[in-house]
Amino acid sequence: MSETIERIKCLIIGSGPAGYTAAIYAARADLKPVIYTGMQMGGQLTTTTEVDNFPGYPNGIDGNALMNDLKNQAERFETEVRFGVVTKVDFSKEIGGIHKITIDESKTVEAETVIISTGATARYLGLESEERLKGGGVSACATCDGFFYKGQDVIVIGAGDSAAEEATYLANICNKVTILVRKDYMRASKAMVHRVEKTENIEVMYNTELEEVLGDKVVEGVRVFNNQTNEKQEIDVTGVFLAIGHKPNSDIFKGMLDMDEVGYILTKGKSSKTNLPGIFAAGDIQDKDYRQAVTAAGSGCMAALDSERYLGSLK
Ligand code: NDP
Repeated sequence: MSETIERIKCLIIGSGPAGYTAAIYAARADLKPVIYTGMQMGGQLTTTTEVDNFPGYPNGIDGNALMNDLKNQAERFETEVRFGVVTKVDFSKEIGGIHKITIDESKTVEAETVIISTGATARYLGLESEERLKGGGVSACATCDGFFYKGQDVIVIGAGDSAAEEATYLANICNKVTILVRKDYMRASKAMVHRVEKTENIEVMYNTELEEVLGDKVVEGVRVFNNQTNEKQEIDVTGVFLAIGHKPNSDIFKGMLDMDEVGYILTKGKSSKTNLPGIFAAGDIQDKDYRQAVTAAGSGCMAALDSERYLGSLK
């Protein structure tokens, strides 16, 4: 028995703010979008508690509630939201070509345009105590969660531009910020390191690594060790901010789409266009600099408009 392969005008991969916003716009342009949500329906925001910086919510909103609102808004315009993970893609290189997408290693669909909004995943150290206290004081986003540590002591782990930027951001809010750097220098740009050095309430501990986050339900401190002397020390903090990089979720597109050395998808100029016709990228998968829900949403809108214009140009 032969099975008819489903043809979709606009297929969206990933269900963060970029994906749902793309869906709202694509649906209103009558592209009948279908979203495949990925494993973590709603994306990174579902792992934070309160979101205070998304415009339109004067009293803040829970991350899960925000993502539910975006999903409901997309569905109101008849977006089809499907739970499933894209496991393989076979993109056409031709203008007007049809792209083949495999879901959960079994079902294949065809799409005229594809919007990739698979996001990036913050890296964690992999400690049991860190995992247990995520949401209880362990965070990978100072801009999202820093406010909750007003006047308190926190640590930041990492030595790149993100660590430097998060530490200086937190220093404006918190009483004291300690940065744990595993080497004897910070790899962040000179200007950022200078800013860290100039900030009075930041202390940098070199050759120092996190051994354990202390606390049962919420962070009460950390135990760190000097990797040269093996000396251990406990520091009283209420917040632990990881800034050891993000991993863009782009593995399945490797070899097909142009990416930078880390795996962020490259888009052309100010658009969401990738190097292949009909394939667009939005949100953190193509943005290592801003990484905010609202910027992701904005780029999702751009991707839907680019899809609509692309399809219009084929007529
Ligand atoms: P990076 O990959 O640049 O830095 C990650 C840092 O985490 C490194 O210093 C690394 O240490 C440290 N690290 C990694 N694993 C561990 C571990 N297990 N234990 C302790 N430390 C660890 O990531 P960023 O997120 O900082 O930056 C990503 C990109 O975004 C960069 O290109 C950066 O320039 C850019 N960016 C730009 C900004 C701006 O211009 N305003 C702001 C933020 C980011 P080590 O040095 O020892 O390897």
